[in-house]
Amino acid sequence: MTLDLEVRLAAFNWLKEQVDLHGDVLPRTLLQKGFDFGGARVPLVAPQGIFKPRIMDLPLSITTTPNSPYEDSFSRDGFLQYKYRGIDPAHRDNVGLREVFRQSRPLIYFHGIVPGRYLVVWPVFILEDNPEGLTFTIAVEDLASVNLGGGDEVRIAEQEIGRRAYITSLTKVRLHQRTFREKVLAAYHSQCALCRLRHRELLDAAHIIPDFEPESRPTVDNGLSLCKLHHAAFDSFIIGISPDYEIKIREDVLEEIDGPILQHGIQGLNGVKILLPDRRIDWPDRDALDWKFKQFILSS
Ligand SMILES: [Zn+2]
Repeated sequence: MTLDLEVRLAAFNWLKEQVDLHGDVLPRTLLQKGFDFGGARVPLVAPQGIFKPRIMDLPLSITTTPNSPYEDSFSRDGFLQYKYRGIDPAHRDNVGLREVFRQSRPLIYFHGIVPGRYLVVWPVFILEDNPEGLTFTIAVEDLASVNLGGGDEVRIAEQEIGRRAYITSLTKVRLHQRTFREKVLAAYHSQCALCRLRHRELLDAAHIIPDFEPESRPTVDNGLSLCKLHHAAFDSFIIGISPDYEIKIREDVLEEIDGPILQHGIQGLNGVKILLPDRRIDWPDRDALDWKFKQFILSS
């Protein structure tokens, strides 16, 4: 196996470990630091979008900056469109990526969601070079169907284009979900709006109007940063939040007698105001809360 492939595989393995620990949205600081390969540090990102670590001859990753509208990143046929560096197709970064394409090497794709936090997607492959549009067309691949053994060339199993478009479209859905989560958690400074718990691993971005309802919106004002316990209690109407941002506990649950989690974690919140984001625009929408609170009242 060539050094190039060894480093790519080491990068994939390292990313897998990080994603198992932290989820698939990783902080830029971690990606900048990267991993150790035979005594050499291999970062995974740099300020430019197309990135080649020093120990490699070809690019390893491509990055989209935070807050670029993600609709722009996907073509109508469901593939990612990655912009050239600048407008010169002969820029060395574009030439490097073209060579990755020619050799069918797998890449890592980082999509900036909020400043400093990136959705990680790998392996991705270049399907097309479009010099007239100054873009590369990128498909996300299923790791299991990539043959990384047998010779120097990485080959993708013969697969129809529709399957790849489908896998890439799942990434788009994931991007929507992760964007909602990151924006909601950022608005609440990564705290539960009910109990102030600060561990990201224990926090969800809860929808006020659930996302299967037609009137649901993926905006921060239809979200609440809630810990796992309070998310489940909110969704199952044990906890209600009035349009005036006051927490209400269901009557029968208020009267129960049980240990400290029930007492402090649930009953103690009755009548308390929720934590609100700094920016008024991010505050929970009163109509959305009212919609949900009516169901809380009905189920009590
Ligand atoms: Zn909580």
